[in-house]
Amino acid sequence: MPTFRDALDGLWARYDPAQLATPGAFARNPKLVWDWYEYRREMVRAAQPNPGHYALAVLQKRFPHLRIITQNVDDLHERAGSAGVIRLHGSIAANRCFFDCQGSPTPVDISTLTWDKNNGPPCCPHCGRWVRPDVVWFGEMLPPDAIEAATFASAHADVMLVVGTSGVVTPAANMPFIAKRAGAFIIEVNPVESQITPIADLWLAGPSGEVLPRLVEALGAP
Ligand SMILES: [Zn+2]
Repeated sequence: MPTFRDALDGLWARYDPAQLATPGAFARNPKLVWDWYEYRREMVRAAQPNPGHYALAVLQKRFPHLRIITQNVDDLHERAGSAGVIRLHGSIAANRCFFDCQGSPTPVDISTLTWDKNNGPPCCPHCGRWVRPDVVWFGEMLPPDAIEAATFASAHADVMLVVGTSGVVTPAANMPFIAKRAGAFIIEVNPVESQITPIADLWLAGPSGEVLPRLVEALGAP
C-alpha cells in the first residue's frame, strides 16, 4: 500500500494528504475528507497482502505469542491470516463519531446506515452529527489502549522484528528501545539503515517481502 505521504494520482493529485488528514480539515469540509477516505478504502480493497504479510502469519502460527504492532491502517495482516494486530494508527475500515458523543471512542457501524453519498459522511446514529474514519489524524493522540498493548508486548518480548520502519515516528519508534532495555534480541528488516539500526542485534538488509519469507524458510519445518 502506498502510504499517504506518497504521491496520489488522478483526482486527488492536487491535494496534500497532510492537509486532508486532520480534524480541522474534516470540520471545514467533511465531504472532501470523507470522499478521500472512500478513495483510499477502495485502494485498500484492491490491494493484496505481500509475501512479508504471509510470512508473519506463518510465524504467528508457529509462535502464538507473536504480536504484530503496526502503524498501517489497512487490513492486510488480517487478510494474510494474522490475528490480534495492535493498531497504533487505527483502522481505515472502521468509523466512529467525530464528536465521540458516547465517550472516546464511539464506534459506528456504517454498514447498516443509509445516507446520500453525494453529501459526504453518514450521520452518527446517536447524535446525528458526522461519522469519521477511525484513523489517527495529524495532531491527534494515539489510541491509549493500543499504546498500552504495544508497550506491554515490547517489554515482554524475547525477540523483536523491526520491519521496514524509519524509526522516527514516536511512540511506535520507542517500542524497539523498550524491548531492547528488557533484554530482547532485536532483528531489523530494512533495505536501508534507520534510527533502529544502532541498537539492532542483527540487521537483515532487504525488503520485508523478500527477507521475511527467507527467515521462515531458514527456520525449517516446525
Ligand atoms: Zn455521535
